[in-house]
Amino acid sequence: MRMWTKALAGLAMAATLVAGSVQANAQDKGTIGIAMPTKSSARWISDGNSMVEQFKAAGYETDLQYAEDDIPNQLAQIENMITKGVNVLVIAAIDGTTLSNALENAHAADIKVIAYDRLIRDSEHVDYYATFDNFKVGVQQANSLVAGLQERFGEGPYNVELFGGSPDDNNAFFFYDGAMSVLQPMIDAGKVKVLSGQMGMDKVGTLRWDGAVAQARMDNLLSAYYTNERVHGVLSPYDGLSIGILSSLKGVGYGSGDMEMAIVSGQDAEVPSVKSILAGEQYSTVFKDTRELARVTVGMVDALMGGGEPEINDTKTYNNGVKVVPSYLLEPVSVDKSNWEEILVGSGYYTKEQIQ
Ligand code: BGC
Repeated sequence: MRMWTKALAGLAMAATLVAGSVQANAQDKGTIGIAMPTKSSARWISDGNSMVEQFKAAGYETDLQYAEDDIPNQLAQIENMITKGVNVLVIAAIDGTTLSNALENAHAADIKVIAYDRLIRDSEHVDYYATFDNFKVGVQQANSLVAGLQERFGEGPYNVELFGGSPDDNNAFFFYDGAMSVLQPMIDAGKVKVLSGQMGMDKVGTLRWDGAVAQARMDNLLSAYYTNERVHGVLSPYDGLSIGILSSLKGVGYGSGDMEMAIVSGQDAEVPSVKSILAGEQYSTVFKDTRELARVTVGMVDALMGGGEPEINDTKTYNNGVKVVPSYLLEPVSVDKSNWEEILVGSGYYTKEQIQ
């Protein structure tokens, strides 16, 4: 009996040791520094959570930091990660042009850098880029805008105002250019009219993707150009801006009485915007599955850490001013009233209860 107990105790100890060493190995693959821009938009919270979960499952520790859209704050967080000796940096930059010095330091410390969702510009030390097809996001926004205009306002011509994202975010230019590849020919043909004449990212950009800034600009546009005319559509590159634009429109009566709501696009499929789509306010959004972006990024890191080559599918689109950064582009999906359930609930991104 005593022997049995001893034997069992021995086995248990051996099992603990084995488990312990597996555990140690699993946590031994290194630490990944993850610098995210802000928690003020739900998508970045999903990005961070998905990465932490997936890096853990692949055997990595993580150091996840959010910078609340404050550039010096993000720089300090990244410098701190470098000092702490993370193995790889994954960065979604607030301002894609301000990280050159930090990346110089990362390079000196032999830390690889992956630009996450947003390209980091003006540095040769950006090793890879994981993102979505950002030009296509813009094309999808404009295509759904046009579909909405035809559906709600017939053949046109349509009065449309344009909004762009933050001019320090490389993506903003891709979204705008993608959208204009659809809209410019319609403007040239007189089918779409921009009564304000405000076109080009220098005129329509929205610093830091700030919804309040978009709302204020929409207020100004409405009072300056639309007292005797109706605006039929607004190109909005991000749900957070769309919410501000919609408030402005509602403030002067759009969406009530005989004033039909203008068609407003968006991006990120954030819960308030999906609810707004179901309520007949925002017309559409673009869904980018952040779980997939995390998966691609974790795969890139794992390949780099194992001395291999990360999988890429684009070697020509993303020139950061110094070099073309090898990229992996995921597919965005346009979402509106007709497919939200299939795309967002069907994929398990949201539960139906979160939306309805
Ligand atoms: C991202 C978008 C997001 C925007 C504002 C862009 O860089 O690609 O998904 O809507 O930033 O956060």
